[in-house]
Amino acid sequence: MPAAIYLDYNATTPVDQRVLEQMLPYFTQHYGNASSSGHMFGWAASAAVEQARQEVAACLGVARPSEISFTSGSTEGINAAIKGIAEACVHKGRHIVTVQTEHSAVRMSCQHLQQQGFRVTYLPVCSQGLVDLESLEASLTDDTILVSVMWANNETGVVQPIDKISNLVRSRNILFMTDATQAVGKLPVSVENVDVLVCSGHKIYGPKGVGALYMRERVRRHPLIDGGGQERGHRSGTLNVPGIVGMGEALRLARLECDQDHARLESLRDDLESTLECAIPGLRINSRKAERLPQTSNITFPCVDAERLLLAIRTLAVSTGSACASRTSTPSSVLAAMGLSAAEARRTLRISLGRPTTAHEIDAAKTTIVRAMHELGAVVA
Ligand code: PLP
Repeated sequence: MPAAIYLDYNATTPVDQRVLEQMLPYFTQHYGNASSSGHMFGWAASAAVEQARQEVAACLGVARPSEISFTSGSTEGINAAIKGIAEACVHKGRHIVTVQTEHSAVRMSCQHLQQQGFRVTYLPVCSQGLVDLESLEASLTDDTILVSVMWANNETGVVQPIDKISNLVRSRNILFMTDATQAVGKLPVSVENVDVLVCSGHKIYGPKGVGALYMRERVRRHPLIDGGGQERGHRSGTLNVPGIVGMGEALRLARLECDQDHARLESLRDDLESTLECAIPGLRINSRKAERLPQTSNITFPCVDAERLLLAIRTLAVSTGSACASRTSTPSSVLAAMGLSAAEARRTLRISLGRPTTAHEIDAAKTTIVRAMHELGAVVA
């Protein structure tokens, strides 16, 4: 049986060996509680956490590392930010603006607030998946307290015009938040024009169960998790020191290697797309005309449902949508918002490349997909 080829890096990534090596001593040697301020085990753990905070700050262009809190991942960061800001700013307004194509963590946090009496506008996107800036501008009112727009989409890879959005929002004194989970490590990302930013370790060759939440000092919010007052009271709970060390190292490597990964993966992705386009008439690459993540390809195939195609290309680990949504059979809400029919969405696969991806793997993927499309009768020779 041929070896499996992993092409689902937007769902998660393997921990980089260099990251793992940095983490290991914090499981068995430096296992102190970072809050134990009375002895050297605690000091070692606390120093490692602060070093990791510096690395995260350096990667995201944060001048004050204290504006970064560690979380259990982006889902927590998003919940903490949206619900925490809404609760703290309720006296200013009860309106939040987001986008129809956001990750479910954002959409569900907003839905939760709707049940608490907040009003939420879910902005439409164009056929390429880009936010409609006129709709955004028209949606802002004196009651708007927060606008949340993801930096890059997990399914299509489309990159939103963050600076333009930020200008519109922040010039009206409204807080601007971005879910940068998929952008960090793949693009240069900076907090320069945002008030709140969320990212996650396991999307960038770090461990699962750790993330970072950047909040500009002036942002008022209530904590999501109460307890011992860790992270300056913003996020209680004993710190996941090995995970945080891993997150710091993953972001240090991302800062150093982002450009080189970008160029190599973009060229492999483009090669994959152009071969498939030539070999499979009627195939469509979604968000092709917009700026996209360099390593993401969202492809609608002709004639064959993605579930059937997945069975025929079993050696390739690719995805029918976001990892969270692939447990449900409802067609992708991202693709629906872009105007794809339910049938088209069901014929769509996401292929995402990562740091370990080789040209040999992409060649094998091309051959496997083209052969399967012939075998399924979707391409007539
Ligand atoms: N936001 C986006 C864009 C994502 O792709 C994901 C993960 O799939 C998340 C948020 C949730 O991240 P985590 O798995 O760290 O909770």
